[in-house]
Amino acid sequence: MVMRYIDEMDIDGKRVLLRVDYNVPMENGRVEDDARIKASLPTIRYALDRGCSLVIISHMGRPKGKAVPELSLAPVSEHLSRLLGRSVRFVGDIVGPKARQAAEELWPGEMLMLENLRFDPREEENDKEFSRELASYGQVYIDDAFSNAHRAHASNVGVVRYLPESGGGLQMKTELSSLQRALDLPRRPLVAVIGGAKVAGKIAALENLHGRVDKMLLGGGMAYPFLAAQGRPVDGASPDEATVERARGMLERDRDHKLVFPVDMVAADRKSEDAFAEVVPIDELGNRLGLDIGPRTAQIFREEIARAGTVIWNGPMGVFEMEPFSHGTRTVAEAIAASPAFSLVGGGDTGSALDQYGLRDRTSYVSTGGGAFLEALTGRELPAVEALDTDKGMITTRTIA
Ligand code: AMP
Repeated sequence: MVMRYIDEMDIDGKRVLLRVDYNVPMENGRVEDDARIKASLPTIRYALDRGCSLVIISHMGRPKGKAVPELSLAPVSEHLSRLLGRSVRFVGDIVGPKARQAAEELWPGEMLMLENLRFDPREEENDKEFSRELASYGQVYIDDAFSNAHRAHASNVGVVRYLPESGGGLQMKTELSSLQRALDLPRRPLVAVIGGAKVAGKIAALENLHGRVDKMLLGGGMAYPFLAAQGRPVDGASPDEATVERARGMLERDRDHKLVFPVDMVAADRKSEDAFAEVVPIDELGNRLGLDIGPRTAQIFREEIARAGTVIWNGPMGVFEMEPFSHGTRTVAEAIAASPAFSLVGGGDTGSALDQYGLRDRTSYVSTGGGAFLEALTGRELPAVEALDTDKGMITTRTIA
């Protein structure tokens, strides 16, 4: 995989079509969490410093191909403008005449933001005409939307073939190099800590990680399919049979005992802050819900993390949003913060857990990606990253020649 990044390209004075991911949470028409917007600022500043003009494109939410006023990017463009202290022009248009004219009128150092790409159904259909039209607004294409890179859409995959020069932004560079450092060139031992509730969606990532890591600590709902595969009762939260089968396969391949499971859990009869909860050995969970790892498990996980040279963390160890079930997640977060290991954290909820304990800055890197991060952990190349792979481009050119 060879990708060129904005700081290796000749962009001086050019009009840059910049794909960002401003799919940010909104509250009463205001941006509630601007982490993703802030993550794009280094690329924007880099381009502005080189006399570029910028046509900024993004999606927000799931408007399903129709204009939905609450999902307009207008307030996001205002927020961006405030962060930069420079004006960002907004047109409520994507590939219509207003958008075209505004893009053509840009002077060096000026910025234009188009409307939510997903207001047009052709974005998610990866429609060629839509890609071609978007491409015509820039002379260079930069993709800085890592968190959308697992989608093959018109604005991040289709668009690339219609521009003479394309590359990744600085945010994309940080994300991919952090993944590379953790997965391809890790300082060992490499320890993965996986929790959360989307069990079926994570099993492919686990299978790939199993071959690469030295230890894999399984907490939260992620422990269930393995416990079920070992014949332990997990009546309270039965995972689907296909996932249990894949967990069984991993257990059979686990000759080096890389997999580490909870030995105790916080058992509750319902998922509620005031539910009756008690710590039980794993064999005594019965038909209650295990809503957090227990203290003995937390201690084992802490020790494994303390020995690690590299840690990858995705998914909380329990229902950390509720105080009685938050201790396991907190212990893991604190162990990662205290460790000198290179730590890569991904997934929206995992980032929120770090924020809850004020520990975000004490990790090496927190990915902006949820789905894209997990997809990267499966070892499959992300479609938008593949589209920017100059190696593949060269092969195609040679084949044609
Ligand atoms: P995910 O998006 O898969 O990382 O899942 C995050 C969610 O998993 C959080 O909202 C947690 O409350 C929830 N969660 C973590 N552990 C458990 C558990 N043992 N049982 C139920 N939900 C859990």
